[in-house]
This record gives sequence, C-alpha cells and structure tokens, in this order.
Amino acid sequence: MRSESGITEELVLRLGRARNMVVFTGSGVSRESGVPTFRGEDGLWQEHRPEELATLEAFERNPEVVWRWYDYRRRLIAEVRPNPAHEAIARLEGAFDVFTLVTQNVDGLHARAGSTRTVELHGNIWRARCMGDQDVFDLLENPLSEIPPRCKRCGSLLRPDVVWFGEPMPPEAYDASYEAASSCDAMLVVGTSALVRPAASLPLVAKHNGAFVIEVNITYTPISVLIDASLIGKAGEVVPELVERLLRVVGEARESAPSPGGVKEHARP
Ligand code: NAD
Repeated sequence: MRSESGITEELVLRLGRARNMVVFTGSGVSRESGVPTFRGEDGLWQEHRPEELATLEAFERNPEVVWRWYDYRRRLIAEVRPNPAHEAIARLEGAFDVFTLVTQNVDGLHARAGSTRTVELHGNIWRARCMGDQDVFDLLENPLSEIPPRCKRCGSLLRPDVVWFGEPMPPEAYDASYEAASSCDAMLVVGTSALVRPAASLPLVAKHNGAFVIEVNITYTPISVLIDASLIGKAGEVVPELVERLLRVVGEARESAPSPGGVKEHARP
C-alpha cells in the first residue's frame, strides 16, 4: 500500500525488523526550522558563499568576517525551534536495541528535540576552540560581545568548533559513525545532498554491509539509485508519518511476542 509520500507497508515492516538502526541527517532536516542549507537558494550571506567563509584560509585571512557570519548564524539558530522531523527522530531512540543518530549539522537542534545518542560529525556551532592550545569549550554567549572572540586564558584567537571545508572530521566522531554505518541493519538518511564526503559515503557503507537504506529528501540525490528507496518530500512531513507508523509496528511486535514463561518479550515482525 502506498501513501502520499511513498511510504509503503513493506518499507515500514523492513525498517521495523531492524535491531540496529542509524539515522543520518544533513542540513535539510533543519530547513523547515528556518536554518538555511548551504546549497539552497537561501545559502548566501551578504554576497559571500558559505564555501568562501567556512574554510581555515578564510579565517586566517579575515577572522572578523568569518566570526560575524557565525555570530549571525548563531543568532538565527537560537531563535528557531526543532521541527517535527527532529522530534520524530528523537522518539525513535527507544524503539531499537541499538540506535545511533549521526548528524552533519552543527546547529544543536537534535539535542534540543531530545536526541541523546548522537554523533556530531561536523562539530557544534555552540562550541569554540582555542587556536593556541586547541582546548575546546562551550561558547554560549549570544550575540557575541567581542568579535573575533579571544581565549580568556591565553588571549589567542578562538575559532568555531566546526569542521570547515577541506578539514578532516574529528577521528572519534568519524570512527563512531563508520562503526554505526557498518554494523546497522537499517539506515534512514534525511536531508543530505550526499555531496560532502567522506560523510556522505556512510549510506553506501551501510548498504554495502547489507543494511536496508532509505532516504527522505525534497529531491533525488546522487545516492538515490544506489539505495533501497527514496521518499520525496519535506522532512518535517515525511519523517513524522514514517516514524509514527514505524513505532506502531515495533510496538505491535513487542505486544504479540510471548516469551516461553508467558512474559512478553521483545520481538520484531
Ligand atoms: P547538504 O549537502 O546536506 O544539502 C542539503 C540537502 O537537504 C539537499 O539535498 C536538499 O535537497 C535537502 N533538503 C532541503 N530542504 C529539505 C527539506 N525540507 N526536507 C528534506 N530535505 C531537504 O547540506 P549543505 O546545506 O550543502 O551543507 C553542507 C554542510 O554544511 C553540512 O553537512 C553541515 O555540516 C553544514 N551545514 C550545517 C547546517 C546546520 O547545522 N543546520 C546548515 C548548513 C550547513
């Protein structure tokens, strides 16, 4: 049975059978909260392209302009709220034996929606790193009173604790995401263009290891032809419907699985 969004009964049952589930998100999941994606038509700031600002070279050339852009983004993010897609993903956590949310987003909206088992691949916009001793700490002041901000201890410049274009991902985060992708038996990919590598190859790692992989996006992506299904629609509409049906299937399976001693035990369709 197909619904408006293309969510079939079979697809829900396949996801519901998973014991180890990964959700992998990109900036599209935060779009309906009002956070611009980099590649969308709203991805420009004062005629600068994000690719020209989110680099170490740009920061070394002009830390003030880069921090003014981050200060603008931090103010924007502080004013928005998690949307129904973030909230639905947070509800999924308890439904699987093993669950990992891997996000490329730096906005912290998944945590605000209640997600806890999260790997942040690209850092977090609410943290800063000292260019002197590389110490990382929360930088919650909003708006910033000093631009560019400096380390209170040593006076060195601070940089946002995010991964810029051309930089490697934090090894612990990458290892955790790779491990999750290679061991899961289902992966739900939401709002990522699958262009920013190596993060974007995670769905293919999952697929290669036998997982059932589906994506939710407003458009087809380079991985669409390589995975099991693409649900074309807005994350804030498709994900809550999918999660609601998935939770129902998982709940019913738990209810209907009697253990040998008569006590209901965990089972899947
Ligand atoms: P991206 O390459 O992941 O592209 C965004 C994707 O979201 C596109 O495929 C687009 O079709 C899809 N999309 C847009 N609106 C959607 C919706 N309502 N529902 C479902 N899908 C939707 O991301 P990017 O914007 O090119 O950014 C690259 C990197 O920059 C990210 O991986 C991230 O590290 C960083 N970034 C983070 C944020 C954030 O934290 N919110 C925002 C912008 C960029």
